[in-house]
Amino acid sequence: MGFRIDSSFATSSKEDKQEVAEEESENLIHKKVIKASGDNPQAPMLYEGARINHAESEALIMAFVLNHSLSEKGLENLLELLNCHLPIPVYSSKFAFLKKLPTTEPKKNFFCKQCEVSLEFGDSDELLCECEAINLKKESINNNNFFFDTVD
Ligand SMILES: [Zn+2]
Repeated sequence: MGFRIDSSFATSSKEDKQEVAEEESENLIHKKVIKASGDNPQAPMLYEGARINHAESEALIMAFVLNHSLSEKGLENLLELLNCHLPIPVYSSKFAFLKKLPTTEPKKNFFCKQCEVSLEFGDSDELLCECEAINLKKESINNNNFFFDTVD
């Protein structure tokens, strides 16, 4: 165990435990999220003396973001706010978080504006079709020259 225990954490462990129990019974959504993230006792705690580990913290933040349909800017500000309250900054960027969020948009299947053969842009922004039409990705999106994958 560490020797750098902050006095504010050391003094009120009984009250803390009671608080946790109340919070958990009040907030079923968050409880579920924590369960879903897996109870891994080996997972590193958020910081020394923290009541939750890193994975649980991320799960709670993600649940908050999804429940309140938080914007990217909102998430960024939330992470900054959380960092202010942590002994050391834990959340350096929103990007690590955004990667973990489920993608809500299904894949776009592009087709040629002229002959309607299917196109795979990959990383490129423009494609020369076999019919010699030049398809620009941006233009294809603007002109709705694509269809979404059907989600079942
Ligand atoms: Zn074509």
